[in-house]
Amino acid sequence: MNDGPYDVAIIGGSFAGLTAALQLGRASRRTLVFDAGAPRNRFSPAAHGVPGWDGTPPGEILGRFRSDLAAYPSVQIQADRVVQVDGRQDAFSVETDGGDRVSARRIVLAHGVRDILPDIPGLAENWGRTVLHCPYCHGYEVRDRPLAVLATGPMAAHQAQLLRADWSEAVTLLTAGMGGFDADALTKVGVKVDPRNVKAVRSDATGLALTLSDGAPMAVAALFLGPTASIAETPAEHLGCALADGPMGPYVQVGPMGQTSVPGVFAAGDLARPAPNVNFAIADGTQAGIGCHASLVFPDFVQPLQQEVAA
Ligand SMILES: Cc1cc2nc3c(=O)[nH]c(=O)nc-3n(C[C@H](O)[C@H](O)[C@H](O)COP(=O)(O)OP(=O)(O)OC[C@H]3O[C@@H](n4cnc5c(N)ncnc54)[C@H](O)[C@@H]3O)c2cc1C
Repeated sequence: MNDGPYDVAIIGGSFAGLTAALQLGRASRRTLVFDAGAPRNRFSPAAHGVPGWDGTPPGEILGRFRSDLAAYPSVQIQADRVVQVDGRQDAFSVETDGGDRVSARRIVLAHGVRDILPDIPGLAENWGRTVLHCPYCHGYEVRDRPLAVLATGPMAAHQAQLLRADWSEAVTLLTAGMGGFDADALTKVGVKVDPRNVKAVRSDATGLALTLSDGAPMAVAALFLGPTASIAETPAEHLGCALADGPMGPYVQVGPMGQTSVPGVFAAGDLARPAPNVNFAIADGTQAGIGCHASLVFPDFVQPLQQEVAA
C-alpha cells in the first residue's frame, strides 16, 4: 500500500469515523480510515431513532456510508485494527495489526468504546435484542409489556423512571443489593423496587425468562441495563488524551472543534461523549472532520483543548 504521508488517519470507520472522512474527502484531503469492523450496535437487528434510517440494520446504514465515500478518491478505507499510534502533530505514525505502518499529519479517533456487561449466563447472547441499554433506541418495540432494569449504577433509577413514564406500566428495578436508591420515591412513580439480582437469562417466545438470585423466575419483554464503557488499551489511551468521568466510564474530552488535549488529535463519537447515540456520533464526526481540516489549513487556529481552556 501507499505509505503516506496522509493528511489524516482516522481510527475507526463507523458512524463517527466515516462521517469525518466524508468532510475530509469533500476537501480532497488524503485520508486513510482504519476499521476493525465491530460497531457498537452490531448486536441489534435494527437501529432506531436515526432520521431516514429508523428500523434499518446498522450494517446496512454503514454500507451506505461507505458507498457514499467511494465518490471521493482521496479517501481510502482499510479493514485493519490500529495497534499503536505515536509521534506528534504533522508526523504521527500509525501501526496496524496487519503490519502496516503509515504516517499522517492529523489523527481522528473514532474507535468507539468496549461494552463490559455483567457476567451473567445468557446475558451477552441477548445483548442488543432483549437485553437493552436505551429506551429511546429500543423501548418502543417492547412498550406496554413487563420490563426490568438491572442496576449497575445510580443511573438505573433514572432509566426505570423513564421507562415507567412512557413505555410500560410494569417496570421493576432489580437493585442487585446495591444501595442508594430512593425506594419510596420510585414506588411513588410506579416503579417496583426489588433487591434481587439476576442469576441467568434465557430468551423465549415472548421475551426473556430471568432467573433471579433466589431462584425465582421472572418473565419480562426486555431487561435494561447500563454497561461499563471502556477505552482502556485503545489509541485514545496510547496518545494520552485528557479524559472526563462519565456515568458509564471515562471518555475523551473534546473542544468545540472536536480537538483533544493532544495537538493534532481529534476525537468523535461514543469515545468522546458520556452517552451513546448514532445521531450524536454523526454530528461529532462532522465536527471533528471539519475541525481537523481547519487545523490543516490554519494550524494556529485550532489549539489543543488544555491550551484553549487556559487562555
Ligand atoms: C446494543 C446497542 C444498540 C444500539 N442501538 C442504537 C440505536 O438503535 N440508535 C442509536 O442512535 N444508537 C444506538 N446505539 C448506540 C450506537 O451504537 C453508538 O452511538 C454508535 O455506534 C457510535 O458510533 P461510533 O462511530 O462512535 O463508534 P462505533 O459504532 O462503536 O464504531 C467504532 C468502530 O471503530 C472500530 N475500531 C475500534 N478499535 C479500533 C482500532 N484500534 N483500529 C481500527 N478500528 C477500530 C470498531 O471495530 C468499529 O467499527 C446502540 C448501542 C448498543 C450497544
